[in-house]
Parts: sequence; structure tokens; C-alpha cells
Amino acid sequence: MRIISSIREMQGLVNGVIRTGKRISLVPTMGALHEGHINLINEGRNRGDVLVVSIFVNPTQFGLSEDFTKYPRDLEGDLSKIEDLGVDIVFAPNLEEIYPEGFQTYVEVKDLQEHLCGHFRPGHFRGVATVVLKLFNIVKPQVALFGEKDYQQLKIIQRMVKDLNLEVEVIGYPIVREKDGLALSSRNVYLLMNERNSASQVSKALREIKRKFDMGCRNTNLMVEFGKKILEETGINDIDYLEICDPETLESKELAGRGDLLAVAVRIKGTRLIDNIRL
Ligand code: AMP
Repeated sequence: MRIISSIREMQGLVNGVIRTGKRISLVPTMGALHEGHINLINEGRNRGDVLVVSIFVNPTQFGLSEDFTKYPRDLEGDLSKIEDLGVDIVFAPNLEEIYPEGFQTYVEVKDLQEHLCGHFRPGHFRGVATVVLKLFNIVKPQVALFGEKDYQQLKIIQRMVKDLNLEVEVIGYPIVREKDGLALSSRNVYLLMNERNSASQVSKALREIKRKFDMGCRNTNLMVEFGKKILEETGINDIDYLEICDPETLESKELAGRGDLLAVAVRIKGTRLIDNIRL
């Protein structure tokens, strides 16, 4: 496993790989790796000949009042977690390498970025799209893997790839959860014991809403109010959104249909958690 921090070195290496006709697969991450990332890495290994994992905490996707500085960072720990997984290259650039002085070019996926998390994290998806496009240009993967946990991010990247004619296949991978249903996230380490218990209610609320849908309910207002009650009963009052929306446009719906996206974002004492399921 080679660890590379220089863009120039990375590009030299991948150009050599491409000349031999091999397929490169990329798993972009912000580190603090957990089973969700590991699953993407395992899937990535099956999809390409040379597997690249990037680790970069991207400042442009954090708002001013967000957790960029305290976001968990543990490169050594991350490397030891993945050393036996068949990763060929870890690309771990520093800040100045990705955003040198004078940097001023950004990518925006106009409509998709307006929904769900977009309301609450202005500029977030612009930062995501920009850094992912840069990673695609640096690593030149044929395949890139993203988690459905960040469903809106996945859709935005797929749209960007289509709109900008990028030659990379973007694959979404199902959410990996704890036994009690909590979606794995690097941010879960922020949760204290009692907060961790409330956090498990987030996925429970989604499952209960889906149960209502499966029993025939289609009125999204009713279902959302029902779900909010479950969250509030466990002390989660800070709900950014709980929404049923079209899985492609992410526009919110009044009448739910099979396959719609049920998505939620809450804050538990400053820790922002997101989750989703398909109806
Ligand atoms: P992050 O390091 O949080 O930026 O995540 C890197 C990639 O891992 C993204 O594509 C995420 O969607 C994905 N990911 C994070 N958590 C999970 C999870 N619990 N299940 C599946 N994929 C995940």
C-alpha cells in the first residue's frame, strides 16, 4: 500500500497504470474510517485492478460554524485499519496541495443542491462537487464508490458526471448500520452515551414511517408528523428536516409512492446526523 500526498506523484502513477490498460477504482473519504468506508473499499477492490482510497478532510464543504477543525482525524489509525484490504494507493494530500493560494474555481450542481441538506448547509455541496471533481481529475478512476448514506451527495456527483461528460462510473453502496439501526458515521464519536441512545431513534423513526407506508398510508404530512413525534419523544427536537421526496429530483412530495426517498437530518447536542431509507 503506497501512501501519496503529492498530486504530481499521484498523477504520474495513475498515468502509468492507465497506459497498461488497468482499471482504477476510487473510494473518496474524509478519514476516521469505519465499517461503512470498509465496505466501499471491499466493493472497490472488486470493481477495478488498482484501488485508490483518498483521505482528505475537505474544508470547502464545511460551513463557518461547522466542525471542520474538530472533525476526527487519525491517519495512522486509518492506515492500519485498511492495510490488509488490498488497497493499492492511499491518496492523502494536505490542504495547500488541494487548495493552493489563489484557488477560485468551483462546481455547482444547481437544482439538486437546493433540497434537503442544501437548505441547512449553504455551500456544502459546492465544496463536495468541487473536491470530488478535483479527485476525479487527479486519480482518473473508471469507477468511484459512494455511500447511499449521503444520498444527496451521491445524486449530485452522478449529475455532475453526466453534465460534465466525465468518464467515470459512480456507484452507490447501501448504508452500513450498527445493530440498533444507527447509520455508521465518523461523527458518531461525538455522541455521549445518552445521546448515542437517542441517536438510535433516528433510524427507528424512519422504519416506523415506512411501516405506515407499507400499511397503505400515502399522505406525507401525516407520516412526517408521526415520525417527528417519535423523535421528539426521545428528546430529539432539533430536526433540520424529515422529508419524503422524489429519489431523482429530491423534490419533496405530498403523496408518497413506492421507492420514494425518506430522508432525515437531526442535531443531537450539536452533532448533526443524517439517515435515509427508500419506501
Ligand atoms: P465521509 O468520510 O463521511 O466523507 O464518507 C466517505 C464515503 O463513505 C461517502 O461516500 C459516504 O457516503 C460513505 N459512507 C459514510 N458512512 C457510511 C455508511 N454508514 N454506510 C455506507 N457508506 C457510508
